[in-house]
Amino acid sequence: MSLALVHSRARAGVAAPPVRVEVHLSGGLPQTHIVGLPEAAVREARDRVRAAILCAQFEFPARRITVNLAPADLPKDGGRFDLPIALGILAASGQIPRDALAGHEFVGELGLTGELRGVDGVLPAALAAARAQRTLVVAPANGPEAALAREGRARTARTLLEVCAALGGQRELPVAETAQAEAALIPDLGDVRGQVQARRALEVAAAGNHHLLLVGSPGCGKTLLASRLPGLLPEASEAEALETAAIASISGRGLDPARWRQRPFRSPHHTASAVALVGGGAEPRPGEISLAHNGVLFLDELPEWDRRALEVLREPLESGTVSISRAARSAEFPARFQLVAAMNPCPCGWAGDSSGRCRCSADVIQRYRGRISSPLLDRIDLHVEVPRLPPRELRPDAVAGESSAQVRARVEKARIRQIARSGRLNAQLGQADTLQLCRLSDPDQELLERAIDRLRLSARSMQRILRVARTIADLADAPDIDTPHLTEALGYRRMDRADAR
Ligand SMILES: [Zn+2]
Repeated sequence: MSLALVHSRARAGVAAPPVRVEVHLSGGLPQTHIVGLPEAAVREARDRVRAAILCAQFEFPARRITVNLAPADLPKDGGRFDLPIALGILAASGQIPRDALAGHEFVGELGLTGELRGVDGVLPAALAAARAQRTLVVAPANGPEAALAREGRARTARTLLEVCAALGGQRELPVAETAQAEAALIPDLGDVRGQVQARRALEVAAAGNHHLLLVGSPGCGKTLLASRLPGLLPEASEAEALETAAIASISGRGLDPARWRQRPFRSPHHTASAVALVGGGAEPRPGEISLAHNGVLFLDELPEWDRRALEVLREPLESGTVSISRAARSAEFPARFQLVAAMNPCPCGWAGDSSGRCRCSADVIQRYRGRISSPLLDRIDLHVEVPRLPPRELRPDAVAGESSAQVRARVEKARIRQIARSGRLNAQLGQADTLQLCRLSDPDQELLERAIDRLRLSARSMQRILRVARTIADLADAPDIDTPHLTEALGYRRMDRADAR
């Protein structure tokens, strides 16, 4: 009896569970059975593996070949097991040394001529292989991604033949190299003219991790402003960046190993499906909200989005994760993103503009804003109006505002204060903590209650106002929340006020 065992990794959510590829050769009719792969995948894998083995000038054993991919209940999609299957067949038939396989893991698809092709989800596999203290072998296309697992010893091979030569001790495979880090492409706040109030709201949002809604006419600069938020946030830690990179790696949309340290800025179009936004599919893959993990999700034209897609956002906005259940599988993906939403003030876009172009009736405006459910609106801490700039502020000689680096310095200090106080950022404070840590003086408490009453705000809104006021006080390095902090925070609930009218 001839048996060989090869280690590989599956792709299941952001994890890479181990897969044992067992190959057994026995007498009987020459046939290849693959157990543990879906029917269609089996046929394709069999053809590729056979062609690659013959192309590498090895012999394809004329015996009964049984390949078992264990455990049975893991998702095993695509061609990632071609290389381990081929190596198993060669080892079981004595064409390469069996012992050499033990310290290795293999993930890669084979072309018909035996060349190794990249697959997705390599970063989670590389991290897991490093923990298991085995050397991961991948295609050159996956090398920079595998190299992100610093503790790992990933190596790359161009062909099946190269892998076999290395296992036979005739050559060494090159160590996977990290890609050259590329400069950040995050645009700078210093390029934005005017917009004092919106810039301030961005700073408060960055400091306390609050979600933000920008309301303004077309062309007033909402996208311009939103794209500046990642540059105001502190640099992501290596652990955070690896989490985000692992999600990109399994998304099927590719990970850019040269920019993996940068916080993501995702801006899906409003025609995107609910699956594209939150994730899904038969073998669930992460959506835009997970690709924005530890970064910024920008949703422009908020009222144009499918209402059902937006409703699904409520859970991740609270919990920072999204669970996807499908008939076949369920998965949970991280989705701790900062939301920046933008919308026009009315269907024509010009309500409130000094030009007086808007002809929308109050009713029409009300219906337009009603497309965004109040529970979603409630979860966005800061609402701010972005006016069209008067021409004098657009002149090239107009005074430029502060740069992203200047604002980021204040944001970092305010965040340090929050972490020292409660171990978390203000937007993440629970109900009990909010009441305890965001206390107001008696007159300010009365001021808040009167405002809530007049604007008909929900209890949830009140908590949000307190947390935002706390962040504003933190930016001012004030130990207690003062009246100016509270009134500024109240000013950021303007969509509630529009609703109440
Ligand atoms: Zn209008």
